[in-house]
This record gives sequence, structure tokens and C-alpha cells, in this order.
Amino acid sequence: MTWSRDAVIIGGGVIGSISGLATLRNGMSTLIVDDSSGERPASYGNAGHVALEQCAPLASSAVLRGAAQRLFALGGPLDFRLRDIAAWGPWAVRYIQACRPETAEAGTRALKRLLAAAKPAWRALVQDLEAPDLLIERGHLLVWESPKTAARGRASWNAAETGEVRIRDLSDVERQALQTQVAPPLTDGIAFDGGGQIADVSRLLATLDEVYRSRGGERRQGRVVAVREVDGRPHVSLDDGTVLTPAVVVVAGGVGSGPLMRGAGHIAPVVAERGYHIEGPAGDWGDLPPVVFEDRAMIVTRFADRLRASSFVEFARASSPPDPRKWASLRRHASALGLPLAKAEPATWMGARPTLPDYLPAIGCSRRISGLIYAFGHQHLGLTLSAVTGDLVGDLALGRTPTIDVSPFDIARFERGWRRP
Ligand SMILES: Cc1cc2nc3c(=O)[nH]c(=O)nc-3n(C[C@H](O)[C@H](O)[C@H](O)COP(=O)(O)OP(=O)(O)OC[C@H]3O[C@@H](n4cnc5c(N)ncnc54)[C@H](O)[C@@H]3O)c2cc1C
Repeated sequence: MTWSRDAVIIGGGVIGSISGLATLRNGMSTLIVDDSSGERPASYGNAGHVALEQCAPLASSAVLRGAAQRLFALGGPLDFRLRDIAAWGPWAVRYIQACRPETAEAGTRALKRLLAAAKPAWRALVQDLEAPDLLIERGHLLVWESPKTAARGRASWNAAETGEVRIRDLSDVERQALQTQVAPPLTDGIAFDGGGQIADVSRLLATLDEVYRSRGGERRQGRVVAVREVDGRPHVSLDDGTVLTPAVVVVAGGVGSGPLMRGAGHIAPVVAERGYHIEGPAGDWGDLPPVVFEDRAMIVTRFADRLRASSFVEFARASSPPDPRKWASLRRHASALGLPLAKAEPATWMGARPTLPDYLPAIGCSRRISGLIYAFGHQHLGLTLSAVTGDLVGDLALGRTPTIDVSPFDIARFERGWRRP
């Protein structure tokens, strides 16, 4: 069976869903194809933090130097599954290369520009969705539980590039509100003004789907197995034998984008950087913004009447079974802090951040297949950058020059001999 649409979006996570709205806005008939067969992707499981302060890519010599101290074996959040080394080993070699100072500095400049556009894009999107309350613009808090980690953490944040986000001391009211919620004494803390959170990521995804369908967007379940060029047009093949022949294809499949892009002739070293969360009733947690417990490498976010605690950076094959020790560790931290969600058996989740070696996303037009656009690899910032990415995809789909220079996000940067423009 062959179908034709103006635009086919591969992937119905937050990047694909918002890109689908953008192509509809262009007046293009749009079909989103998503293979989620019960597994909820990172777009569901994230911490909901609009992290406008994270301008420095995690590919840097400072992060590389500190990696050993953050290993899971030593009680930290960073883990490498040895049996999956074939999946992340080649990525790690490229990562080490991307930590060179000149690459890291160029990455910071590019990410800073993208993050500066993220807030206006979010404001416009929630207005368009007629759900302004989905975006809560009150920053986030970060606390330490020992003088040593507080001194180290403060020094590190003071030196960090945080774009338009300003760091200040916690007010007495904030400090008191936090201390009444958690059992251990908090030594020190800072507040980040300028970022925010999504009020409820499940509601965001439901609203995106509802508005998309109400505007005539179509969605079907299915796994795309290949994208190739036939007679100057992209052809999309599904696992049930369906072939789609739209004018424009957007690859927005998170970690699943790698095989599709490689099949289309690109070098796309995207790795699964897996994270975990536990979630339960918010109880009397109060109306706090997201709180980072830096000593525990854990962020706690309230979504409506639920509380979610998220952590871990686990390099593994996306399809490998989860590691229950990580949920146990989250439960231990939640109990030690006295979080309400630790009182009953919390729900558990694991999923993969799609991450490229230089910690920049891939956004652009394929040089190999005409009509093929890609938007994936948003690492720890996929929720934060989803609205602005949708705007960029909308421009690229119309052949319009985007308002932000997307050349640093060109997937060709991983090809030998590529020179930064
Ligand atoms: C624990 C954790 C906490 C996080 N916290 C934050 C945060 O606070 N703020 C933030 O900005 N970011 C956060 N992130 C990162 C963010 O969640 C991701 O970057 C983002 O969700 C990626 O979105 P995506 O749409 O690209 O991919 P995904 O959410 O993975 O969605 C991709 C979709 O494409 C589908 N797909 C893949 N391949 C195919 C195929 N071949 N055919 C059909 N469909 C396909 C998948 O089934 C999936 O539904 C966090 C991530 C984790 C794991």
C-alpha cells in the first residue's frame, strides 16, 4: 500500500509531536508515525524542567575529568553497562574528541543561542495550545547537604555559563519552605531565576495530541524500517509493508533515529543515555518548583498531585532490561529525604535520552535525500528545546531560512573532513 501526505513525521515524542503541529501550521497535511507499543519514551519520563541554564554541553574536559568520581560503583549517577560496550564504545571515542576546548566552546555558543530562543518558543506554543498554565516560569532550586559539597557546587555554578538564567542565594522563605519538607538539614542552596517547568508532562503530551488531531493531523502506530530516496522523493517504509511518499519526512525518533539516518547514508552516532524515575503521591509536598538535590544527583518535580524523583545517566543499549538497583537507590534517597512518594510503593520508569557525542542536537536538512529533515539527539534538554525545535522544523519544511543558525546542528559534522562553518 502506498500513501501520500505533504509531511510524515517519524516519532511521536515531544519533538515529533511539536514538529507535527508546525508542519500543520504550514498548511501541510501531516501524518505522525510512532511505534510506541506500550513503552513510554523519554518525552513522558523526563523531569519536566525547562533547563534554560544548561548552556555548556556535557562534552567538556571538566565533565570528563569529574566522570570517575560520579560512577555508579562509587555511589554516583553515571554507569556504563559493560555487556553493551558495542553500543556506546564508539560513541565514547567521539565524545572524548568532542571534549576538546575549541569544540566545547563552539558548542556552548550554539547551545546558548538555541536556549535563548527556547523560552519565547514555549510561551508561543502554550498560547497556541490554549493551555498557558502548562508552562510555569518560576525557575528551580538547588540544595546541598554538606559544607564541602556546597563550597564545591557554588564555585562550579558561579563559573558556569547559564545564559539568561540568573543564580542567587535562596531567600529565607524558600529555605524554610524546603527545610520543612525534607528530613536532613540543608546546608546551603541557590535559586535559578529565568527557567521553569512544564506543569505536567503527561498533560502536555495529551494536549499536543488533542490539538494536533483537532487541526486535521493524523497519527498511526507503526515502525519505520527505512527512509530512502526514489525518483527525487523520500520514501518511508513501515514494518507492515506500507510505503509513504510525502514531500517532506522529519526523522524525530529519539534514539530510534540513529538506524534510520544511517540507513539513509548519514553518520549518526546517537547513543541511549538512560535515566530512571520513581513517582508517587505528592502528599503535603507543597507548591515548590523543581528541586535538585545535588549531593544525590536527583531532581524532584511536582506534576499536579504526583511527585517524581529522577536521576541516572546509564550508557547501555536502549533495549537492554532496566537495572532495578537504580530504582532501589532512588527509593533510598526518597526515604532519607522523607519525601511523601516514599511512603507507598512508587511507580517506576526507565527510558533513553537520545545523545550525540558533542551533546548538541541534530537539526537540519539532509544533504543525501531531498525532502528529509532531521530533529533528534536533544540529550538532557529535549523537553526544554522541543518548542524551538518545532519552529525550526516548520521553517525547514517550507524551505525557509530559520531565524537561528542551524549549521552547528548539521549531522554532517560527524563526517570525516567536515569543517565548522
Ligand atoms: C530521566 C530523564 C529526565 C529528563 N529530564 C529532562 C528535563 O527535565 N528537561 C528536559 O528538557 N529534558 C529532559 N530529559 C530529556 C528529554 O526527555 C529527551 O531529550 C526528549 O524527551 C527527547 O524527545 P524525542 O521526541 O526526541 O524522543 P523520545 O521521547 O524518545 O520519542 C521518540 C519517539 O519516536 C518513536 N520511534 C523511534 N524510532 C521509531 C521508528 N523507527 N518508527 C516509528 N517510531 C519510532 C519512539 O517510539 C518514541 O515514541 C530527560 C530524560 C530522562 C531520561
